[in-house]
Amino acid sequence: MPSAPDYYQLLGVPRNASEEQIRSAYRKLARQYHPDVSQAADAPERFKQVTEAYEVLSDPEKRQRYDMFGNGQGPGDFGIGDLFEQFFGAELRRREPRGPMRGADLRMEIEIDLLDAVRGGDRTVRVPRLQTCSKCDGSGAEPGSQVSTCGTCGGRGEVRQVQQSVFGRFVNVSTCPRCGGAGRTVDRVCARCRGEGRERREQDLALTVPPGIDDGQQLRVAGEGEAGLRGGPSGDLYVLIRVREHALFRREGDDLIHLLRISPAQAALGDELAVPTIDGEEAPVRVPSGAQHGQMVRLRGKGVPHLGSNGRGDQLVYLDVAVPRALSKEQRALYRRLRELEGAPEQVDAADARGVFDRLRDAIGGE
Ligand SMILES: [Zn+2]
Ligand SMILES: [Zn+2]
Repeated sequence: MPSAPDYYQLLGVPRNASEEQIRSAYRKLARQYHPDVSQAADAPERFKQVTEAYEVLSDPEKRQRYDMFGNGQGPGDFGIGDLFEQFFGAELRRREPRGPMRGADLRMEIEIDLLDAVRGGDRTVRVPRLQTCSKCDGSGAEPGSQVSTCGTCGGRGEVRQVQQSVFGRFVNVSTCPRCGGAGRTVDRVCARCRGEGRERREQDLALTVPPGIDDGQQLRVAGEGEAGLRGGPSGDLYVLIRVREHALFRREGDDLIHLLRISPAQAALGDELAVPTIDGEEAPVRVPSGAQHGQMVRLRGKGVPHLGSNGRGDQLVYLDVAVPRALSKEQRALYRRLRELEGAPEQVDAADARGVFDRLRDAIGGE
């Protein structure tokens, strides 16, 4: 704070002012600039400045430091809030909001199958929540009971108490303890909600799951949270989606990975096969001749629909070449013959020997 105003000037007191002079000057200025009193646009800023000045000059130690170093070394935080409280007491505390109050947001979690996530669709969810009381329709009064203006607050919902403080008399405004701010009382409160106007109930709600939703995503259902108070709007409902693991498919983004086990002969010669898809129908898949273990065959458009847009991901068929663990007599003879014909394969160096997961990653990452 290079050019902060001089604290003595702010309070309009001489440098040798007594503690009483400083206190008296601040008291006068604080009342003048108090934001609740003054309509001037710069009143809050002036009030803050004089409070800051008083905070320093009323403390002998801080005042001495200020006299020696000025306010260039002053700490920024003056604990003005505490000072407010000290001088103005409850008057400065924020008044409790009365009138309409928005209901709370609710969060819940549902678990769906991968197929449900792919297809989307409507589901029913049971939501326990605070709802507008079905007996009193939110009024809080027992049907047929007498509703009258609160005698304690005269219907204003707040009570004023005159308080004595260092500045004289102050008016303390607080929520009416009798009617809780409603401004009216009933001779019989609603038995079901005990006058609150809301009750806890379970409600079945229709939830639309969009096709393509993924595990961990959240749906917002506007206005289906808890009911508001005194005519306020309801909160929102947030539904976290959990997708169960599928026995045959693993989801990667909008692609579905499916493992297809083939024999060395099928890999070497190629083959025409069929694989299950998430839609339930089988789809033809061509294993190319010379297929390698870990190679992917892409079935376009057989994956998960893109959420909120057209098109679908792909099904990636992961070729898992399974070497037979046991051989029949005839197989053994044929494999022997193959070994003689093929000889040992050419060796590759480490850089070329990429792991299965590298290939997996490449296949998912796009062609
Ligand atoms: Zn009720
Ligand atoms: Zn009242």
